[in-house]
Amino acid sequence: MKTGEQAHAPMAISSGRLRLLELAGDGIGPEIVAVTRVVVGAALALQDIEVEFITRDIGFAALEKTGTTFPGEVLDEARACDGVILGPVSHQDYPPTSEGGLNPSGVLRKELDLYANIRPARTRPYVPSPIRTAFDLVIVRENTEGFYADRTMFVGNGEFMPTPDLALAVRKITAQGCRRIALSAFELARQRRRKVTAVHKANVLRISDGLFLDQVRQVAALFPDVAYDEKLVDAMAALLIRIPDQFDVIVTTNMFGDILSDEASELSGSLGMAPSLNSGADHAVAQAQHGSAPDIAGRDIANPVSLIGSAAMLIRWLGVRRDQPALLAAAQDIDEAVERTLSEPALRTRDLGGPSGTRAFGLAVKARLGGSSRHLNAKPSP
Ligand code: ATP
Repeated sequence: MKTGEQAHAPMAISSGRLRLLELAGDGIGPEIVAVTRVVVGAALALQDIEVEFITRDIGFAALEKTGTTFPGEVLDEARACDGVILGPVSHQDYPPTSEGGLNPSGVLRKELDLYANIRPARTRPYVPSPIRTAFDLVIVRENTEGFYADRTMFVGNGEFMPTPDLALAVRKITAQGCRRIALSAFELARQRRRKVTAVHKANVLRISDGLFLDQVRQVAALFPDVAYDEKLVDAMAALLIRIPDQFDVIVTTNMFGDILSDEASELSGSLGMAPSLNSGADHAVAQAQHGSAPDIAGRDIANPVSLIGSAAMLIRWLGVRRDQPALLAAAQDIDEAVERTLSEPALRTRDLGGPSGTRAFGLAVKARLGGSSRHLNAKPSP
């Protein structure tokens, strides 16, 4: 690394077992988290890595028992564990904060300073996609500020209503927030095809997106070996459909990243496909890109690929930080087993046109672990 600004010394390899916090969440959360646990546990066992899953209630399950959707002790546990596997949450249906409705995802991102949301999406030749052009890109989304009412203020909320017919929302953009997400993007691009595209709306949001672009350009100057360009977010929505193969790493602010990554995920085959890691200097949380999908909850039809892939990203993140090849090998093994499973049409879930249930898909992935990656030279890639 040339910039030096984000270098982390490898953590000491913790003696004993890996401790992963498992938070099932709402809607399809419990189903996809259960399947993810089976796959992760088996992949780590194949590498002789002991793992302890610590289970805590969040969301509606916690609200019933404790009066809040995110009990304080869950945050303490998240700080203490090696990593978190977070199921999707139905936070839009929670009661107001004053009645215990906290968005677990927002709290974790803010409190653990998980500033980088890394969201890869790609097509596969063997999975049907709504577009013909093959692509492989990563959206690097700022995660701790932007247009998110729960992340904007030190005290209070970023959305308010001065009069009954007037609603205001505040968008927070800081130089430090933009700089560190830009560094994440350029460092990632160096491991990939060495191209970064900054997505913005600085023609309208001249000051805030102007600050974002200014910081990204300064970082771009530190990476002369990485190609850099900029796109307006509205144009980008169209370009993702027309020429998705032209993009490698896309860096953008919080809400633009959320919207574009759903689009990229759907273009890759289904919202259930694309993984996502929330990471900061000291913590990381695996979280599917999609939401809690209440319309299909409890029916064993959800696609667990997004969360399984997210957990693989978490294991890889730990492997890189700890310089522990067995963790890298476990992550690679999970990814390869998912690909082998997806390549068989009869094993795919309903969103991909297959007949498989969530659990059956997970067991099929588990059965395909250990195929070709019981080696310790797995490549660390996102
Ligand atoms: P949020 O705002 O919380 O991210 P969302 O509006 O993006 O949520 P989702 O819950 O992600 O909505 O899903 C939208 C629809 O996509 C769901 O109603 C469901 O039909 C489908 N979907 C989402 N995730 C999956 C999945 N893992 N497997 C199958 N279908 C899914």
